[in-house]
Amino acid sequence: MNFIKKSVLLFFVFFTFSIHAQIIRKSFEGIEFSKEYYDSLTKTVGLRKKLPNDYQKQILQALTYFPELKNVSIVFRLKKSSSPLMVRPTVGSSVFRSAKNRTYIIFISSHSPSVDSILMKNLPLDAQIGVVGHELSHVSFFINQGRFGMFKVALGNLSWKYLDKIEFETDRTTVLHGLGYQLLVWSEFVRVKLKMEKWRGADEYIQGKTNRPKERYMNPETIKAVMAHCSLYK
Ligand SMILES: [Zn+2]
Repeated sequence: MNFIKKSVLLFFVFFTFSIHAQIIRKSFEGIEFSKEYYDSLTKTVGLRKKLPNDYQKQILQALTYFPELKNVSIVFRLKKSSSPLMVRPTVGSSVFRSAKNRTYIIFISSHSPSVDSILMKNLPLDAQIGVVGHELSHVSFFINQGRFGMFKVALGNLSWKYLDKIEFETDRTTVLHGLGYQLLVWSEFVRVKLKMEKWRGADEYIQGKTNRPKERYMNPETIKAVMAHCSLYK
């Protein structure tokens, strides 16, 4: 991407945030989710979304941080899967529809013995909002990809290196959208549950010393480092 294109994109990202700036919350625990608030969210960020009953509150809260997805069709679907959450556009819509008119499906695993402890149903509220934010960050990337871009994404899914980079950057998008504290809760929770607290960090990647992160997802220290550099958290 050349410099002018990058600048224009950054301007629009900033412009979008400045209009819809969301309050940064360290935690959503104990925040009242009244009927009026619920109704107002379903009529705004909830447009063109299909939500499972169990997670409406978490998903609507996360959506408030993604104003660019307001008119994007997203279906959240529960299914048995060893991947706690994942997202993809429907095949038909990625071929035949323009980026904003595609339908995206976010699968939430309802059952998987191998990763039971980190399934959505077993997460604390903030981790649930954080991980939904991560999936919405993928959608936010997809809506800026034309057919060729989506073809590249499909090909990229065959490459470990590409997946490492895309997941890492998706975590960064989540933090830059204002859900840094929630992503942090998710990251810490998963590491404790999977006994992976000692995974190496990706600090060199953040500092520009390498173009390959050492791990696919940001570790808690890296999330904190990105938050420290982001004015939203000041
Ligand atoms: Zn992801």
